Amino acid sequence: MLNQTKEVKMDDKISFNVKCPKCNQTLMDYNNPIHDKPSVHILVKNEINKTGNLWLCSTYGCYDKQSDIDLPDNTNVEMICPHCNALLNTDVNCKCEGNGKMIKFNIDIGGVVSICSRVGCKNHYVMVDDLELTLRRFHREYGY
Ligand SMILES: [Zn+2]
Ligand SMILES: [Zn+2]
Repeated sequence: MLNQTKEVKMDDKISFNVKCPKCNQTLMDYNNPIHDKPSVHILVKNEINKTGNLWLCSTYGCYDKQSDIDLPDNTNVEMICPHCNALLNTDVNCKCEGNGKMIKFNIDIGGVVSICSRVGCKNHYVMVDDLELTLRRFHREYGY
């Protein structure tokens, strides 16, 4: 029964507020919403070393994004914090076949979201130490 409750909640259109794991500053951009939610704004470097802005949809399970540089599918990108310029790519390999590396963001209410550095890869993980606790906090903060 408890498991069922979790499943439903994670499938729901929930959106996470994320912050940089290095400097702890928020990456949420309230001026450039996607799907009526604040987007996640980061700097991105494409395969030809061009740096631009990237806005990701913050809704879990949604892969919509906007960028002011070319990010062709199946290329790998580097994501960089716009506040402290830290590289957010990790050495952890994605399960995909495109040599993708996982990129991690901290969730403000606890836990980590990671996405793949390969454009178009749909692997997307949420890792929390204590899912129950995080969802309870989520309820309180967002009223879901
Ligand atoms: Zn930072
Ligand atoms: Zn991947």
